Amino acid sequence: MYTDAIDLPDHSRFDVDLAIIGSGPAGITLARAFANRSTQVCLIEAGGLAYDARVQSLYEGESAGIPYPIAGNRMRLFGGSSNHWGGFCRPLDPIDFEKRDWVPFSGWPFGIEELMPYYEPASVLVEIAPGRFNDKTYWEHATGETIPDPVTGRMQLRYTHFSPPTRFGQRYGDDLKRAANVRVLYNANVTNIASLQEGRAVQQLDIRTLTGLSHSVRARIYVLATGGLENARTLLLSNKSVPAGLGNQHDLVGRFFMEHPHLSGFGEIVVADLRRRPRAFTRRVEADGRAATAAFNPSEAFLRERRLLNATFLAGEAGPYYGYTRSDWAKAPLHMDMLRAARPFLADGSGPVDSARPDLLGEWLGLGCACEQVPNPDSRVTLAGERDLLGLPKIRLDWRLTEQDRRSVVEHMRSLAMEYGALGIGRMLLGVEDDGQWPAEVTGGAHHMGTTRMHDDPKQGVVDRNCRVHGVDNLYVAGSSVFTTGGAANPTLTVVALALRLADHLKTRLG
Ligand SMILES: Cc1cc2nc3c(=O)[nH]c(=O)nc-3n(C[C@H](O)[C@H](O)[C@H](O)COP(=O)(O)OP(=O)(O)OC[C@H]3O[C@@H](n4cnc5c(N)ncnc54)[C@H](O)[C@@H]3O)c2cc1C
Repeated sequence: MYTDAIDLPDHSRFDVDLAIIGSGPAGITLARAFANRSTQVCLIEAGGLAYDARVQSLYEGESAGIPYPIAGNRMRLFGGSSNHWGGFCRPLDPIDFEKRDWVPFSGWPFGIEELMPYYEPASVLVEIAPGRFNDKTYWEHATGETIPDPVTGRMQLRYTHFSPPTRFGQRYGDDLKRAANVRVLYNANVTNIASLQEGRAVQQLDIRTLTGLSHSVRARIYVLATGGLENARTLLLSNKSVPAGLGNQHDLVGRFFMEHPHLSGFGEIVVADLRRRPRAFTRRVEADGRAATAAFNPSEAFLRERRLLNATFLAGEAGPYYGYTRSDWAKAPLHMDMLRAARPFLADGSGPVDSARPDLLGEWLGLGCACEQVPNPDSRVTLAGERDLLGLPKIRLDWRLTEQDRRSVVEHMRSLAMEYGALGIGRMLLGVEDDGQWPAEVTGGAHHMGTTRMHDDPKQGVVDRNCRVHGVDNLYVAGSSVFTTGGAANPTLTVVALALRLADHLKTRLG
């Protein structure tokens, strides 16, 4: 059932078993897991069923650290940021869950085996081919090409899968509409999580509309699923009975904000022998109606040996080289020199690499990477002085990166260059100065992680291994804000897997 909070009489109240705040992939996955059961569910969404600029403005904030598009990197409407996401999917790697002595604050309370049973149903929900992330044979069979194994020991191949991308609101909205036990309450901004007993139990959710109405929802169990930035803001705003904010007794809410620092244009690869470069290295290839591309990741052995952070490297075709250079390519003469150096047979005319394209000499690849960053307590979300249209303090984000993060990615770039050379595919031109500075073009990937991190010790994490807020009996958090470390995989597949795991836990608790 769908209910528009704007159409309700002022001061309406709903009493349910389970209240879920936020209808992104996390909230919808959770609500759907309870559809057509005896549990009464209210899924509360701040936005409407379509984009509205006034609603979206409630996401604006202040960026105090590395410049960050705080409103532009998320969406406030039914379906959340899945209305906008790119659909890149991959599970975290086993090493990402470990306590690594060279990564401060690392170590999830459990290993990847805890999430493995949930990655498969999560893959179904995001509509990708299940379980083919490391399976070179499957993609060789699908593409009819040989995919070489990395040879330096530094890199390994992983397959990034592409969701269509699934828009969770459109794709699963009807399932929720049909379920008699689920109410979707939209245009309903949760402005305060009201608590009792000095924050030890949630009493109700205070809700406001942009038209000035106030409502409330009471439940036995509450789940905060408002996205990796807003989860922290909502807890900090819920400060009526606990001045520091709900769950913030150890000043951890909002700290440890992590992104996947993205760099592009840090290097180019001049492919000298197209026969050695499988399509999957640079393009989306298809099998059974699903698409994937090969990514280079540092091998686990190399990460351990050199005490580095995880990373993902993707390449794409930037242009072909023909038997002449085009004057509008500023870099073409340099590339052609590299190409000649890499392919001595060009000079003696021993033949083209592609018999169907005799004028084609090679190819120029652009590179992109998304890296892990060290959890850093000073990289954080707080409340700003300025207020939003509801009169609430806006979010303030101070995203910070460290020298350890930078050194790690520079080393991986060198490894990638070695790997392409060793595979005999081409030569890599590294465009990053190793000068102790992060390049100005570092951006995020709209991946908001760590602000309500998971840890068994309440002094080191906001939520426990079941995603329950430490010290609050009936409040849970869903989404990438619970990630203890971020790995180098896009987060949403793991967000959905964690939401399915949380649903199982709550089913036991709610009966
Ligand atoms: C441009 C872009 C590209 C992306 N590409 C990828 C990708 O390729 N791969 C990948 O894995 N991830 C990608 N992401 C990230 C992905 O979208 C998120 O990981 C995912 O949406 C998180 O799901 P969520 O349910 O935790 O939060 P969200 O999707 O952010 O949903 C939160 C919901 O809570 C609602 N809400 C917020 N505050 C309140 C409140 N106070 N009261 C009630 N409701 C509230 C919001 O309106 C929203 O609907 C991308 C994101 C963007 C923006």
